[in-house]
Amino acid sequence: MSRRLQYYGSDILRKKSVEVDPSEGAEYLHELVKDMKQLLTMERGLGLAAPQAGDNVRVFILNPDELPLGGRWVFMNPRVETGGSPIKDEEGCLSIPGVFEAVRRPSRVTVTASDLEGVRFTLELTDYAARAVQHENDHLDGILFVDRLSPIRKKLIRKQLSEIRREYAGDSRIL
Ligand SMILES: [Zn+2]
Repeated sequence: MSRRLQYYGSDILRKKSVEVDPSEGAEYLHELVKDMKQLLTMERGLGLAAPQAGDNVRVFILNPDELPLGGRWVFMNPRVETGGSPIKDEEGCLSIPGVFEAVRRPSRVTVTASDLEGVRFTLELTDYAARAVQHENDHLDGILFVDRLSPIRKKLIRKQLSEIRREYAGDSRIL
């Protein structure tokens, strides 16, 4: 596997990702998703977005063993609509190791996406699955969960973030 996990401080995590063409890019997408699944399994995560694996394309995966997703786990070119009252719950991110903070997000989503074969599907999700979709979808727009914290919480983790940036800067460059 040539892909490596991108950490806080990597420019790739801050770029807006582009849509994919499931019919033209089938071979590339299968390989990308395979690598992403391997990274997610290795890191024992709930979800992973393509930019975290170094590719700025609109693809994310979720761990179907941990979240009720009706058998779905690959989300390509997702469209997410949120609803319900906002709730706060703790989040972490594989790209920001050791940082766990409560984030306020809408409690429900309707997500429409393509699977690996390019077939569109729609899921209505609540609770942590809804949160995970919003977290991963944010990655496709270059947004990290720490961006959604209050100024005070952000200030409190500033040192931790700069340590991650320093510690992992070498890692993410080896691609
Ligand atoms: Zn994340």
